[in-house]
Amino acid sequence: MAKYTKPVCRLCRREGQKLFLKGDRCYTNKCAIDRRSYAPGMHGQNRGKKPTEFGIQLREKQKARRIYGVLERQFRGYFDKAARQKGMTGENLLRLLERRLDNVVYRLGFAASRAEARQFVTHGHITVNGKRVDIPSYLVRVGEVISIKEKSRDIVRIKEMIDSLKDRSVPAWLSLDVNNVTGTVIKLPSREDIQVPIEEHLIVEKYSR
Ligand code: SF4
Repeated sequence: MAKYTKPVCRLCRREGQKLFLKGDRCYTNKCAIDRRSYAPGMHGQNRGKKPTEFGIQLREKQKARRIYGVLERQFRGYFDKAARQKGMTGENLLRLLERRLDNVVYRLGFAASRAEARQFVTHGHITVNGKRVDIPSYLVRVGEVISIKEKSRDIVRIKEMIDSLKDRSVPAWLSLDVNNVTGTVIKLPSREDIQVPIEEHLIVEKYSR
């Protein structure tokens, strides 16, 4: 299972906006984009050229990949699947990404970032309908109940996250039971439920070239 392993703040700087990839740190004054709001690399401060249409579409696709922590090949797979589904391809694409188990663990507040959520999943701390699922790309379905394994709840970091759940609000397509540390998928997310700064039509245009 491949994943991006280089410094992630570079990705925000490259996209020119906060992608909130590092959890709590993103909300402090240590955020790299607040300190250096130009693209990384030798020519980062000299990128004055107006981006082309292709460049804009490419950046939007890269941004979506980076937010959800998905590599190119897998992202293309999601796009192809979205294009085969009924309805708007861009919205279908976002819905597929949003249904990933690592994203749901993050949305429920069981982890501070999608990267941390992915780690919790791969380390076997997460259950779906009472059974351990250690595949971050698992797509949740309506009615499924996501939880943290009973035995894992004493791990310091997980305990911290559980303690912070009471202040957590979750998107309309999920419900959270703080006392039992469980989340339920009550419906599939609509576009309004997916609060990400992505213009999905640009991604569709990019792949339709
Ligand atoms: Fe992005 Fe968070 Fe790093 Fe800031 S701290 S640049 S929001 S990953």
